[in-house]
Amino acid sequence: MNKLLIATNNNGKVQELQELLKDLGIQIITPSQINLELEVVEDGMDYAENAGKKAVAFAAASGLLSLADDSGLEVDALDGAPGLYSARYSPQSGANDSDRRNFLLKNLQDKPRPWKAHFHATVAIARPTREVEFAEGNCFGEIIPEERGTGGFGYDPIFFIAELNQTMAELGMEEKNHLSHRARAVMNAMPTLKKMIGE
Ligand code: IMP
Repeated sequence: MNKLLIATNNNGKVQELQELLKDLGIQIITPSQINLELEVVEDGMDYAENAGKKAVAFAAASGLLSLADDSGLEVDALDGAPGLYSARYSPQSGANDSDRRNFLLKNLQDKPRPWKAHFHATVAIARPTREVEFAEGNCFGEIIPEERGTGGFGYDPIFFIAELNQTMAELGMEEKNHLSHRARAVMNAMPTLKKMIGE
């Protein structure tokens, strides 16, 4: 295996994963580079099921080793919501990231602060033969009521990391990639990934 496909259509994730995987010594491919348009229905019961579905679908369609991530934001005061539904968390159809952040803040309005939360990521790596391996990562912080920063994507502007006194959106890509849930999942996947690449 001398190529690895990033199995996602989310541009924010593509950029982060390209950076996280760049030292692997193999060619990192994005779906757009090979004109692969694939919408995978994320109807799994958990992150692993969804990540596995995405990785397997992209690997089977491309014939390449493929890495997918399924991730979400879990807020303690909302019993772990939006969780698995983070990408679709809004009553409006056609909602964007900003609408989803506003909806989350509306739902937290009456809850006492701090609004403790964590991001979770499960990474799945699939061979074209549909065999799949998994790794996980978390990043802990709290939700704040005002947006700060312009970097990242999704819930980053309202996800505050007290030790850094910054939101995820105030971090540069390199800093985010040192501590994010996705970075930790990819780091935990490295031994498996290297083994799969070497096969
Ligand atoms: P999915 O993995 O495609 O189901 O989407 C995960 C969703 O969780 C994204 O669309 C974002 O709303 C949110 N999310 C996942 N990772 C991050 C992150 O690093 N920053 C901000 N939001 C994230």
